[in-house]
Amino acid sequence: NTPLHELDPEVAAAVDAELNRQQSTLEMIASENFAPVAVLEAQGSVLTNKYAEGYPGRRYYGGCEHVDITEQIAIDRLKELFGAEYANVQPHSGASANQAALFALAQPGDTVLGLDLAHGGHLTHGMRLNFSGKQFNVVAYHVDAATGLVDMAELERLAKEHRPKVIIAGWSAYPRQLDFTEFRRIADEVEAYLWVDMAHFAGLVAAGLHPNPVPYADVVTSTTHKTLGGPRGGFILAKKDFAKKLNSSVFPGFQGGPLEHVIAAKAVSFKVAASEDFTERQRRTVEGARILAERLTADDARAAGVNVLSGGTDVHLILVDLRESELDGQQAEDRLHEVGITVNRNAVPNDPRPPMVTSGLRIGTPALATRGFGAEDFAEVADVIAQALMPSYDAEALKARVKALADKHPLYPGLNT
Ligand code: PLP
Repeated sequence: NTPLHELDPEVAAAVDAELNRQQSTLEMIASENFAPVAVLEAQGSVLTNKYAEGYPGRRYYGGCEHVDITEQIAIDRLKELFGAEYANVQPHSGASANQAALFALAQPGDTVLGLDLAHGGHLTHGMRLNFSGKQFNVVAYHVDAATGLVDMAELERLAKEHRPKVIIAGWSAYPRQLDFTEFRRIADEVEAYLWVDMAHFAGLVAAGLHPNPVPYADVVTSTTHKTLGGPRGGFILAKKDFAKKLNSSVFPGFQGGPLEHVIAAKAVSFKVAASEDFTERQRRTVEGARILAERLTADDARAAGVNVLSGGTDVHLILVDLRESELDGQQAEDRLHEVGITVNRNAVPNDPRPPMVTSGLRIGTPALATRGFGAEDFAEVADVIAQALMPSYDAEALKARVKALADKHPLYPGLNT
């Protein structure tokens, strides 16, 4: 029972340093968030010790009576949260959920239609080095170069031409809402399954701030750790008809023992996601992104060659377009890192620079909203970002402004040792 600091000071020191980094900098990576302490507690519990292959009530191991309760709570809460007929909470991650979903809907060699990675799609939607791109015949659709919006006319044309087995609707870097009615219409027209990957915007859906894909899609996958704010993990929702196929695709298809400690933490986060506080937090998240988009399209930003793809946002992130700036994505990411703001560089559609450099930034607001940021704080951080992307900037002054914001909204105050 030796505590971590005594048993393994090296690992403990790195964990402490990471806590300090999260507390003292401003986290604006669009796919990140801060899980509540109750979620960390469930995830760090003795449930990590338990083998529970199978599903609640139908396990291949003894002693599952307690993890049956937590897993069933997670399933029931999740179905309720999104109005789904079926839920599987076992996928270890978003990528695992996607793998299980795709193999339940299609066979290797089948054609699938997904948003191009360079246009905002995810690796698991058909990137050539990913299982999806290696094992399926992938046809990519794109965003329109002028508007930055998904080109639905191209999608329909490609669907009719290639008759895919599955159409994937979902994104990792896209600042607008998808039209699920249109996706469904096109899928029906070519008799394809519609799979929506709502990993990024699931929290907004739970809060009623984004259309819910569940009524439209055959299968919906997600992560639990982005806007949803839970532990790192994945889940699958579907119509009842797909239950058997999906259950067996997750286990024994791709996974062995479920991570019951993580599933308990997912259950806690689903309870949180059904609360009024959560809805209010998602409102601040979306409002913060709008404030960022407005500031980064102001005259001084435009004069410095900074633009925002699609001209704004409807969700929790913006995509900054630096094609006309003297900074590339890497340099811009480094500048923000220097002043204490963490973001990631991101390719813009038809990016002239290589993927390791890029000409864009993806900036998200979920983690800061969780920290308590409101409109005024987002306006301040937006101005700091705008200043940092100007041809000349005062790093020390910007660092001080970042520190003041971090101090104003303490993170995990009880966790320091
Ligand atoms: N799907 C989408 C749309 C994502 O953006 C991501 C992660 O970035 C994933 C799936 C994969 O999630 P994970 O990193 O948990 O495997």
